[in-house]
Amino acid sequence: EVAVLRLGHRPGRDDRMTTHVGLTARALGADRVVFGPKASGSADTVRDITDRFGGPFEVEVTDAPKATISDWVGPVVHLTMYGLPIQDVQGDLRASLDAGDPILFVVGAEKVDFDVYERADYNVAVTNQPHSEVASLAVTLDRLFDGAELDREWEDADREVIPKETGKRVVEPGESDEGGSGSADRAE
Ligand code: SAM
Repeated sequence: EVAVLRLGHRPGRDDRMTTHVGLTARALGADRVVFGPKASGSADTVRDITDRFGGPFEVEVTDAPKATISDWVGPVVHLTMYGLPIQDVQGDLRASLDAGDPILFVVGAEKVDFDVYERADYNVAVTNQPHSEVASLAVTLDRLFDGAELDREWEDADREVIPKETGKRVVEPGESDEGGSGSADRAE
């Protein structure tokens, strides 16, 4: 299992970023996202997207995010600009994935407490420059899965985007892209 924990959430200010952590985790191959208690609105949004665009993907809200870290069985990977370069750690992470070990990625919002740095098996940086939890998660998952997540199949979706050079095409899964009856162009 690959899970992503969003640690910290300032209601209002972090709403979009927390939602985007969940959406990015889902789109780029994680199995589950875990949010803290203040992020239930983001959880609802990510569940809604999963209902429409497919899964499997789990969304969990916990009162005790730190317990998710301390109780985790398997590697805990804290993404931080102060950590070791992802390009030096990705081999270990892939070995854990291949071994079937559950991997927990932790991303912060504001300052992350030092006990997380100490508990983490890996503190990993995507460059040692300050940027974003969404960007660091995206690069890290892509490095972990080596691009295979880009070709993922989705189950139980009620809509599917058909890639187009220009324009937008969304169909119900199972419909062809022949423009037959029942398919609809929908702009979202
Ligand atoms: N300044 C905060 C600190 O010192 O921990 C971090 C704020 S940053 C906007 C929010 C999150 O983005 C961090 O907790 C970390 O997970 C992630 N992040 C930002 N830059 C990163 C980088 N270069 N590599 C990995 N993760 C990064």
